[in-house]
Amino acid sequence: MLYAQVHLTLPAWVHEAVDPAADYRDDDAKMALAIRLSALNVRHGSGGPFGAALFNAEGRLLGVGVNRVVPHSSSIAHAEMMAFATSQQRLQQYRLNAAGGPVTLATSSQPCCMCYGASVWAGIDRLLIGARAEDVESLAGFDEGPLPADWRGELVKRGIEVITDLRRDEARAVLAEYARGGVVY
Ligand SMILES: [Zn+2]
Repeated sequence: MLYAQVHLTLPAWVHEAVDPAADYRDDDAKMALAIRLSALNVRHGSGGPFGAALFNAEGRLLGVGVNRVVPHSSSIAHAEMMAFATSQQRLQQYRLNAAGGPVTLATSSQPCCMCYGASVWAGIDRLLIGARAEDVESLAGFDEGPLPADWRGELVKRGIEVITDLRRDEARAVLAEYARGGVVY
């Protein structure tokens, strides 16, 4: 039998952990949420140590994502992809800033090559990054894949502002906590 649909879900705990009406106007608050999601995903064993969140121009939440690769047997279920997909469904819009921006993605770690590519098509205007790719690779052993040498410049060229090292130490601590657990999920 051929499968003709894909069903991806966020863990049920996100509904209790995230206040969809909160004010996330400043970048620090946006990143704090992305990192908190990554930490909770580890503590609940509901996926890998990555969290992401999308915000509209007013600092209101459009959607969140956490890594769901192992639970869903799906290599596309990275935190950023989950945040893009759930937000796109909510807005019924494949380019999130089609109705106006800026739309901001906050992600606990630098996007891998897949999420990097998806960030170009999803219609975001700003990208906030916590841990660096080198942190992901050295602390948690994940491969970030082949990114363009000038990955930041390629985004800027496409009108996406990039801010790195936001709460980096906190994001690194979650990666280290995951690695200490010794279980892949
Ligand atoms: Zn990714």
